[in-house]
Formats: sequence, C-alpha cells, structure tokens
Amino acid sequence: MIEARGIAKSYNDHQALKSLDLKIEKGSIFGLLGPNGAGKTTFIRIINQIIAPDKGELFFDGEKLSGKHIGRIGYLPEERGLYPKMKIGEQLLYLAQLKGLSKAEAQKRIHYWLERFELKDRVQAKVEELSKGLAQKVQFIASVIHEPELLILDEPFTGFDPVNTEHIKAEILRLNQEGATIIFSTHRMESVEQLCENILLINKGEKLIHGKLHDVKNQFKEGWYRIEYNSAWQAPEKSDWKVEHLPSRDGIFAYRVNLNGGPRKDLLDQLNASELISFQEEIPSLNDIFIQSTSGNE
Ligand code: ADP
Repeated sequence: MIEARGIAKSYNDHQALKSLDLKIEKGSIFGLLGPNGAGKTTFIRIINQIIAPDKGELFFDGEKLSGKHIGRIGYLPEERGLYPKMKIGEQLLYLAQLKGLSKAEAQKRIHYWLERFELKDRVQAKVEELSKGLAQKVQFIASVIHEPELLILDEPFTGFDPVNTEHIKAEILRLNQEGATIIFSTHRMESVEQLCENILLINKGEKLIHGKLHDVKNQFKEGWYRIEYNSAWQAPEKSDWKVEHLPSRDGIFAYRVNLNGGPRKDLLDQLNASELISFQEEIPSLNDIFIQSTSGNE
C-alpha cells in the first residue's frame, strides 16, 4: 500500500528522518513505533502530504504519492483538530464534504456512525460540551467517514476509558477485515501486540527493527524456559545449563533454565511428567524489545 524509498527530512539543521526505506503491505495493520522525537509524526505528515520530504520517493498503491491520493487516506492526528464551538453533526458534514462526499452520502454515513457509537442524541451538541472520550469518538468518525483505504491512527486510544478502548479496537479490526490498511502509531506496546502483524521501530530518524511481530519476537528470544514443579528439581550434573530458582509458593517449585543454545528436547527429557505443573518458553514482550533496542542510544 505504501512504499518509502530513502525518505529524509530535516528541520533547520536537525535531521528528523534519515533515509527511511520501508514497505507497508496492503490489508495489514502496521505498527509505527519509537520513542518521543523518533520521527513518527514527521513520517505520517509526509504520507498525508502536510509536509514534503527533502529526499526520497513515496508510492501509494503502486503510484507515486500525489494530491489525488488524499481522498483515499484517513488520518486521526494525535493533536485533535475539531472546532470546539461547532455542532457535531455540522462538523462531521463539513469534514466529510471536504473529503469529497456529497451532502446526501455524508448525511447517511454520519447517521450510521453516530448510531454505531451511541452518539445519535448528541448530534446538536457542540464539541466543547462533550467529554474527552466522546470528542475522541467524533474525531475517529471524521477520519473514517470517507471509507479510506489507508487509515493512519496516531495514538488512537488517548482519552478513552478501557471500555471505549475495546470498542475502538473492535472498530479498527472490523475496518481492517473489510480491507483497510492501517498504520498505527503509539507508545502502548500492549495494544500493538494485540493488533499489529508488522512493525517498524525507529529511533532518531533511523530504522532499528522492521518485520513481522512474530519474527521480531523470535529474534529477541534469549533461550530461557520456565518450569513449575511439584518437588525440587535439579539440572543434570555436568550440563552447561544456567538455572535460576524463582520464589516458590504453595509448595510449587519454580525455575528459569537456559540451555545455552541446546535443544528444548534435552530439557523436556529431564522433566518428570507427573511432577511437572507448567513448562513455558520465555518470549520477550514488545515492551522489553522496545526498551532494549532504544536504551543506551541516547
Ligand atoms: P515523534 O512523532 O516520533 O515524537 P517527530 O516526527 O514529531 O517525532 O519529531 C522528530 C524530531 O523532529 C524531533 O526531534 C522534533 O523535535 C523535531 N521536529 C518535529 N517537528 C518539527 C518542526 N516543525 N520544527 C523543528 N523541529 C521539529
């Protein structure tokens, strides 16, 4: 859906993006990650053609990105851009028409979305009269009303309580199942783990990690296993395994074992099935990977 080749952007003498290459597959949910100042918003603004790159090329669905693609992109910016004094219905109508919808079509879709988000009775309310969560829902509607093929969401869960967060997540998944490609920029690693198949982690304008979430996690595994046992367990003598005793509770003995690159079967062979309560490979969380990759890089 999007291909970037050598995208670079500087503000005065500060290089915010340094020759970024990447591909975002059609129909995927793509996590754009990185600490504050990494260059995420700069990249998103370049796709939205709010700013132009100094160097490099961008392709949208195989064509060089240009003004004609704007109507196929939806953008939920982190800084919300609703008019506080305008009524919700009028505001959505205005924004939908800016995206090229006819008045009749816009009204039909506004009705559909307001009903979906249980906001129908607030159509005459002004944005400034809404709670943060409701205003956020209106902004979400504004970004999807023209049924964009590419939807860019910058911190979409800010301002939502847990119930509404789940509601929005379900909407994002539904739009993706209906064919939309989604770029999702956030600091919340747990929502990335739930939603994204592919991720790009950038820091200081440079790519650190790019790939399928599953492959990235495998790449960061350090070969640790956790076992819980009904009795005390001991690693075989003379093995070069590392064993850590974890605090035992309720008569359960727990260990972390690292096989020094040896096959997992060697450990399973050392376990007595009638004593074993659980066996688990340690898979790093995206949060761990994020911290490990970006720390020491200050
Ligand atoms: P992120 O969205 O990952 O937090 P940004 O793309 O907003 O990162 O910013 C990348 C870098 O560029 C930061 O160091 C930021 O201070 C700088 N920057 C962003 N926008 C501007 C601007 N309009 N003028 C000058 N510097 C900017």
